[in-house]
Amino acid sequence: MAIAVDLHLTILGIITALILVSLLVHLSLRRGSALGWMAAALLCVFVELLVLRFGAHSRLGVAAIAMLVPAIYVCAAQAIRRGTGLAFTSHRVVSGTALLTALSLLLLAMPVPPTLQYVPFQLASILVFFDAALALVRKHDRDAFEHALLVLCFLVLVGVILRVPMFPALLDEPTPWGLFDAALFERVFIQCMGVLNTSLALLVVARIVARVILGYRHSSERDGLTELLNRRAFDTLIDKPTASRGAIIMCDIDRFKAINDRFGHQVGDEVIRSFACMLSLQGEHAGRIGGEEFALLLTDTTLEEAAEQAEGLRSAFDSLQHPAIGPNVQVSASFGVAAFDADTSIRAAMRSADIALYSAKQNGRNRVEIAREETVSPSLTLAAA
Ligand code: GH3
Ligand code: MG
Ligand code: MG
Repeated sequence: MAIAVDLHLTILGIITALILVSLLVHLSLRRGSALGWMAAALLCVFVELLVLRFGAHSRLGVAAIAMLVPAIYVCAAQAIRRGTGLAFTSHRVVSGTALLTALSLLLLAMPVPPTLQYVPFQLASILVFFDAALALVRKHDRDAFEHALLVLCFLVLVGVILRVPMFPALLDEPTPWGLFDAALFERVFIQCMGVLNTSLALLVVARIVARVILGYRHSSERDGLTELLNRRAFDTLIDKPTASRGAIIMCDIDRFKAINDRFGHQVGDEVIRSFACMLSLQGEHAGRIGGEEFALLLTDTTLEEAAEQAEGLRSAFDSLQHPAIGPNVQVSASFGVAAFDADTSIRAAMRSADIALYSAKQNGRNRVEIAREETVSPSLTLAAA
């Protein structure tokens, strides 16, 4: 049994590391409870392995195992559910799990063969874990992580089901299945389940960490009010262009301070959001670069096409109804458009578009002004208020 002892120690070491990683990440991120559940499941595995190693021959040790095994799967199921955005296990399934565990404890106190005593608590584990796997099967739009998780869940389930009649072997007790080599079963089982459970735990941890990183990346690139690109992300977009020619539209809501002063900040926010919503329909490269200032980067678009698009936006925003403001107060925006190509950088075009926007303001607002090539002063007016 020397190999089994080493295996126990190795798995204990891996589990300790995983508990620490889960707990540290959970505590430092303070996001969701999935890692907390995973840490709890791993802690139960840790204690179970210690009991299997040192206390499996006592009645108390066996009773502890009968409670720890379902607890592992209850906690792991919650970690999987929380990590994939599913609801917690239903009260019905939790009650079923608790009842089956209680039945095992009852049978342990009765003169029944061990094979029978150990069945209910293992069924409890299967019930709660199968329920989580089923919820994952029913989940629409599973991503690659969730597909991998599902495969691992079913492999673990197969392992847990195969273990049902052989559980006494893990406690060095005789099984009624004399044909099986109990020691070999224990070795193979512990190895396989060690790999499967560790992979499952790692996958859940990796998924949660990846989600958190994506969340932080999203909030570092997106403006909180409008979900458009924020100034920093828009600057990055401009500094790492994906196209060598195109156009940029700069926009600014007209007399916005007066809207805020008259109707309040919240209504002002609504106006900003409605403008942003309109802009986001024009493509993914729309940014809020200031309070009520926006920019739209258009790749492979000519200056004339961009000017037409800006005019469409101007006219759409001008005729947009704002319920909190009413039809008697006009809300509009001004636009400046400039093109870039191999000779003119996007940043230079942005400066020209900004100057064109300034001209639109000077010329009466609610209009589109176009900056022609290197000409700093705009030369074409498309629309006037
Ligand atoms: P102009 O037509 O010249 O652009 O005039 P304006 O009033 O729109 O421009 P000004 O720069 O004088 O005022 C912009 C106002 O936008 C001032 C600021 O309080 C407001 N603002 C900036 N960010 C936000 C925001 O997130 N929400 C709201 N409600 N107001 C904001
Ligand atoms: Mg303004
Ligand atoms: Mg402004």
